[in-house]
Amino acid sequence: MLLKTLREEVLDANLELVRRGLVLYTFGNASGIDRSQGLVAIKPSGVPYEELKPEHMVITDLAGKIVEGNLRPSSDLPTHLELYRCFPSIGGVAHTHSEFATAWAQAEKPIPCFGTTHADSFHGPIPVTARLTTSEIEGDYELETGAAICRVFLEQDPLAIPAVLVAGHAPFCWGTTAAEAAHHAVILEYVARMATHTLSIDAESRPLARELHDKHFLRKHGRNAYYGQVKTQ
Ligand SMILES: [Zn+2]
Repeated sequence: MLLKTLREEVLDANLELVRRGLVLYTFGNASGIDRSQGLVAIKPSGVPYEELKPEHMVITDLAGKIVEGNLRPSSDLPTHLELYRCFPSIGGVAHTHSEFATAWAQAEKPIPCFGTTHADSFHGPIPVTARLTTSEIEGDYELETGAAICRVFLEQDPLAIPAVLVAGHAPFCWGTTAAEAAHHAVILEYVARMATHTLSIDAESRPLARELHDKHFLRKHGRNAYYGQVKTQ
C-alpha cells in the first residue's frame, strides 16, 4: 500500500474534524500531499466516518489521476489539487461546512480580527472569494472554486492566513500538514463564533489594533517566533 503514514495522517485529520463537531454527516474532507512524490491522499466520497480506514483513502497525482484506491475520491478533489498546485508551501487541506464560518461565507463578509485568538493563527481578516460566474459554475465547478481561492492569495502568503471563505459555500483551510489544516479549521470555527458574539454585543466593535495583531501572530510564526518551547532536533 502506498503512503501508509500519509494515509493515516489524512484519516486522522478527517476524524479530527468530526471529533471537534465541524462535520455533519459526510459534509467535509481533508487531504494531504507527499511533495517528493507529487501524490495526494484524500478521503473517499460519501463513506461514513465511522467506517473509514487508512486503506480507504484515495491516492491521486496532482492532475487527479487515481494512482491507488478502489473508491471514488471526495468530489472536492479538484479544489484541493488546485490549492496544492498554486500554494507550493502547503501540505494539507481541510474543508468543512462548520456552522459559524459557513454563516460568514454565506453573508460574504470577511471575518475581522477582533482579538488575539484570531491573531495567533491568522495574520489578517479571513478573506472571502468572489462569487463564481455562471460559466464557472456550469463548467469545471470544483476546479474553479480552487482557482477563485488562489486569486485571493495572489499577493499574500497563504500560510500567513491559512483559511478562506468561499462565497455562498463554506471555508477551506490549509497548513503544512493535514493535521495542521484540520487544526486551522477548528480555530477558524472558534474565531468565527466569537466574532459573531462580539458583533452581537456591540455592532460597532473595532478590529484589534494592528500592532497587537502583529505581535500575536509574529511571536508564534516566522523567523523571530518565541512562543512555546524551543524545538530540539
Ligand atoms: Zn463544501
